[in-house]
Amino acid sequence: MRRGSATRIALIYPELLGTYGDGGNAIVLEQRLRWRGLPAEVVNVPAGSQVPDSCDIYLLGGGEDAPQVLAADGIRQNRAIVRAVGSGAALLAVCAGYQVIGATFPSGGEIHEGLNLVDIETRRSFAPPETPPPGRAVGDIVVEPDPRLNLPTLYGYENHAGRTRRLPGAGGFPLGVVRRGIGDGEDGGSDGSGGGGGGGTDGIVDGRVVGTYLHGPVLAQNPALADLLLTWIHGDLPPLEAPQEAQVLREARRRALAGS
Ligand code: GLN
Repeated sequence: MRRGSATRIALIYPELLGTYGDGGNAIVLEQRLRWRGLPAEVVNVPAGSQVPDSCDIYLLGGGEDAPQVLAADGIRQNRAIVRAVGSGAALLAVCAGYQVIGATFPSGGEIHEGLNLVDIETRRSFAPPETPPPGRAVGDIVVEPDPRLNLPTLYGYENHAGRTRRLPGAGGFPLGVVRRGIGDGEDGGSDGSGGGGGGGTDGIVDGRVVGTYLHGPVLAQNPALADLLLTWIHGDLPPLEAPQEAQVLREARRRALAGS
């Protein structure tokens, strides 16, 4: 990005991909830059308008099945996000957004084409057809991030029916291992049913793209992940002291979820 110019954070189709408060991720990124004296601008991209390819960070949130299909249609149309990521932009894609950046995702009993930006596919179930599909994944989720990311434990909330897996020869690596909840769900659960209880993976990190099932908004609950995205754009940034309330809340959440 140009020196001195504002970091542009694109919030894509918040009317379609905003059911779970993921728009808060834009506010977190903007504020964490401002606290460091760096100019930032949230670029709201309403559904139906062209996605710009000139932003520095792109945000896709979660949504219900039908709006997710509409969002995917719009995003695929001009492939601006693919071009921007190819030129060095960062992307955070949450839940429906995560599914949409992959090869395929399910909705209304059909399989829809995604953006094919990362090598994942999502289905209602990967279990054999005679097996009943797993239930909706709803509840707290705790993820131990891949050590390469040097991040603390990630906390969030998940609410999705789809199950996601990496395609053979996929690039990048899973965001982390699920300690509680379901996440991608393919091999979560001790019985291999995708039924939760931890042990499977959540998400993907591929270049400057992060996909995850964590709502929260995830960046509000996990500021270190917000800073990771920002350092991809800005290089090293001075650390920010977290407000004491945030530390206390995070610790309370850690204790409440510990041991499960
Ligand atoms: N509609 C998708 C699913 O149910 C994604 C849901 C979400 O974004 N929370 O799997």
